[in-house]
This record gives sequence, structure tokens and C-alpha cells, in this order.
Amino acid sequence: MNGGTTIAGQIERLIVRLDGAGVCDACVTDRLNLSVPAQANVVTRALGGTRGFERKKDECTLCGSTRTVIRRSVR
Ligand SMILES: [Zn+2]
Repeated sequence: MNGGTTIAGQIERLIVRLDGAGVCDACVTDRLNLSVPAQANVVTRALGGTRGFERKKDECTLCGSTRTVIRRSVR
């Protein structure tokens, strides 16, 4: 699963595009015009801990709030 037109693919691409910056579920939802934040939450939770993706409490690069964000650590 890498890219594509699924919601999971769109979310993954957005996170990768942010290049190591963390983004919260609410901003993912907003950026991708998802209908409910739960959609982003399911995907980011599944991504966390896989292939360099990590979820942690930090400042969201888009809204500036300190909350659980997801990022992909760059080598
Ligand atoms: Zn945010």
C-alpha cells in the first residue's frame, strides 16, 4: 500500500509530503476534506510504528496545537 486514491493512500502521501513534520488527525481531515476525523484517526493509528511513521504528542505543524500527531521520520 503506497499512494493510490484510497483515503489511506491520500493520508500517507500527505504525511510523507510534510517531510518529517508532525500533523494531527484534525488537520489531516481538513486537508483531505474527509467527512469525519475518525477516518484519519483509523489510518494514522494503523500507520504509527510502521515504515518510519510514528505517532507522538507534539506540536502540529499545520495548526500549532500540541496533540497527538503523526510524522514520518526522515533518515
Ligand atoms: Zn493540526
